[in-house]
Amino acid sequence: MTNPQVLSPVTLRCQFCDTCNRVDLARAADRPKCGECSKPMLLDRPVKVSDDDFDVSILESAAPVLVDFYADWCGPCKMVASLVDEIAQEHVGKLLVAKVDTDRAPKVAGRYGIHSIPTVILFRDGEEAERSVGFEPDRVRAIAREASV
Ligand SMILES: [Zn+2]
Repeated sequence: MTNPQVLSPVTLRCQFCDTCNRVDLARAADRPKCGECSKPMLLDRPVKVSDDDFDVSILESAAPVLVDFYADWCGPCKMVASLVDEIAQEHVGKLLVAKVDTDRAPKVAGRYGIHSIPTVILFRDGEEAERSVGFEPDRVRAIAREASV
C-alpha cells in the first residue's frame, strides 16, 4: 500500500459489550479497542455476526469478508471452524473473517439460500464473490489467499 492514509473501515460489534465500533482493519496490529468498554476488538479471530449486524459489518466492509455459515449441532462445521480460525490469524488486517450461526440468523441464511452447512462465502463490496459448500479446506484457503492479496 503506497498511501499510509488508506483505511480499511469495518463496523463490528464488540464481543464484550455489543457496542458497534468502526475499526480500521488495516491497523489491526495496533490492537484497536472498543470505544465503549475499552476491551480489545479481536480481529485475529472470526467475529460473530447475526441478522441485525450482518449488513453493516459484512456488506459495508471495506475489506473482503470470508463468512462461515455454521450451526452448533453440525459435525463438519467444527472442522471448518478450526480452518477459519487459522485463516483469520494468517490474514489478519487484510481479510475479515466472520461466523454466522444459521440457527440464530434465519434472515441472512434465507437471503443467501444456505441449505447446506457448512457453507463459506466470500463477500467483496457487499456482493457474494465465491462460495464453498461442505468441508473444502484447500478451496477455502485458496479463496482466502486470493482475497487478501
Ligand atoms: Zn465494548
